[in-house]
Amino acid sequence: MGYRFTGGCQCGAVRYALDQPPQNVHVCHCRMCQKAVGGPFAVICPIPKSAFHLTRGTLSYFMSSDVGRRGFCSACGTPISFDYPEDGEFGVLVGTLDEPDRAPPQNQYGNESRVSWYADLTKVPGDRPTYADNPDMLHRISSTNHQHPDHDTDVWPPHRV
Ligand SMILES: [Zn+2]
Ligand SMILES: [Zn+2]
Repeated sequence: MGYRFTGGCQCGAVRYALDQPPQNVHVCHCRMCQKAVGGPFAVICPIPKSAFHLTRGTLSYFMSSDVGRRGFCSACGTPISFDYPEDGEFGVLVGTLDEPDRAPPQNQYGNESRVSWYADLTKVPGDRPTYADNPDMLHRISSTNHQHPDHDTDVWPPHRV
């Protein structure tokens, strides 16, 4: 199962697996995707609905139009998916994959709403790791991390002894 992709929400209440690699992974700059993911764009990883399996929990949905819906975890609020219920494809949001590196975008849509600073994004300074200047805060975060790890777990939350 070298092609198996897994993922889930930030808290781990929702976990999923994909039977095949996403096809036509794309950036979507449209205003609806910006709002739905709380970011400048969404990166959507489409797969056939038959290849998407929930392995823990269930998705909640917001109908962003009469034909499209946004799946999310009702426990932590993580946006997880976009799809048209009447369509055969299901779009997983790349950041929820355990290995988002494995799903590079091949196309860009919704360009009428693209933020003006998108083209310069790779040029802004970005050479510092998280909280490099504040190791105490980094320790406080990492030692109390409530984010589900990037792999399936049988028991979550972990037992504390
Ligand atoms: Zn969650
Ligand atoms: Zn969009």
